[in-house]
Amino acid sequence: MTLVEHGESVPAGAEWDTDLYRIAAEQLERTAEVIGLDDDTLARLLEPRRTLTVNFPVRMDDGAVRSFTGYRVQHNAARGPYKGGIRYHPDADIDEVRALAALMTWKTALVDVPFGGAKGGVQCDAREMSLGERQRLTRRFTNTISYLLGVNRDIPAPDVNTDAQTMAWMMDAYSARYGYTPAIVTGKPIELGGSLGREAATGRGCVYCLAEAARDYGVELAGATVAVQGFGNVGSWFARLAPELGCRVVAVSDVRGGIIRRDGLDVAALLEHERETGSVVDAPGTDPISNEELLELDVDVLVPAALDRVIHSGNADQIRARLVVEAANHPVTPAADDVLHAAGVVVIPDILANAGGVTVSYFEWVQNIQQFRWDEEQVNNELAKRMKAAWANTYARATADGIPLRLAAFSIAVERVERADKLRGYAS
Ligand code: NAD
Repeated sequence: MTLVEHGESVPAGAEWDTDLYRIAAEQLERTAEVIGLDDDTLARLLEPRRTLTVNFPVRMDDGAVRSFTGYRVQHNAARGPYKGGIRYHPDADIDEVRALAALMTWKTALVDVPFGGAKGGVQCDAREMSLGERQRLTRRFTNTISYLLGVNRDIPAPDVNTDAQTMAWMMDAYSARYGYTPAIVTGKPIELGGSLGREAATGRGCVYCLAEAARDYGVELAGATVAVQGFGNVGSWFARLAPELGCRVVAVSDVRGGIIRRDGLDVAALLEHERETGSVVDAPGTDPISNEELLELDVDVLVPAALDRVIHSGNADQIRARLVVEAANHPVTPAADDVLHAAGVVVIPDILANAGGVTVSYFEWVQNIQQFRWDEEQVNNELAKRMKAAWANTYARATADGIPLRLAAFSIAVERVERADKLRGYAS
């Protein structure tokens, strides 16, 4: 196990359009220039406060013992305890986790919840593992990083390939060591202290942002066409809720491929098909489409809700949507951002669009600490209030300063973190 106080330096020659850590740094550097951030604070915010890499053994079903590598990166906690999801993915690496940890710092600041930013990951192919193997991996990983966690220190949540069940195992492993502690993770099952409305919160928050953006940019949503890449937690909830705005979801995809139906997909039937077959592919009454083709469709709204860097310098000039809602983290690279901005495409940035998840995670944490459950209506009302306020602040800043929404959102977030950082006396 290695405990490193500061992150490694960026690999020499890394491409800023493709390297995730460089992309995160580029976004902060652009913001620093706009808000006139001093060099010392910039240098401090470019690096995470703490980076932990662990290697830990797990007994597999065939009796073999396999070693897995996992990470927990704590970027900044000036505004509150570290907060961020844990992802299970074969490509999870330290640079990805560091970039995502920083993004959480800006996200929690923008929606003004009292958390800092963190992220975790385990390099594994969770889809190839049995339930028992995933449980043993989760428990061992939790025990191995547990001394960094705490209700007032660092609170994990689900992310790609982790879910409420994963959080239940994490909560149990932590509680076995430190006593009953439901507030140690968010995104738990309702039966174990999860919040009503948490599962849908990220997709719902994206829908709230889309409604606000369409109003302020004069995009008619009645009859608007929408394409969604990714049909997991975020993408599927977005697809379920977007029709409430009058939109028509015409294409969706997952890791196996995509489908299209110009007249609009029957999302309820699609969810049923996905539950039965494990994919949206081959849903009755639809035509196949590749993930790349989906991004370039002539639709009004494009929602990347799967992985990062899917819109890059190689395909940005092919994007035909009027609005891009960044449901995933980092789906648009800085190089692509410039191309889209020049073409008049409005990009609702990830730290705003997908902040509904961490916002309801905050509500879950509050409910756990108070041992008092809110009803779903209260959760959704409070979520709407926070998302609308964050949108209004971001849009006002973008309009006043004549800058893109991402730069406006980052400016607000970085200024808040800088202020808390200075008030705490970190630099003294
Ligand atoms: P998930 O694991 O539930 O779903 C991911 C979806 O993406 C699946 O449909 C999967 O098949 C698809 N996918 C995977 N690889 C793909 C590929 N190469 N091409 C096309 N599709 C692919 O994950 P999620 O929780 O829905 O998260 C999706 C994104 O949203 C991630 O970037 C995550 O960091 C971000 N996010 C999630 C939350 C949350 O609350 N779950 C909150 C904020 C941001």
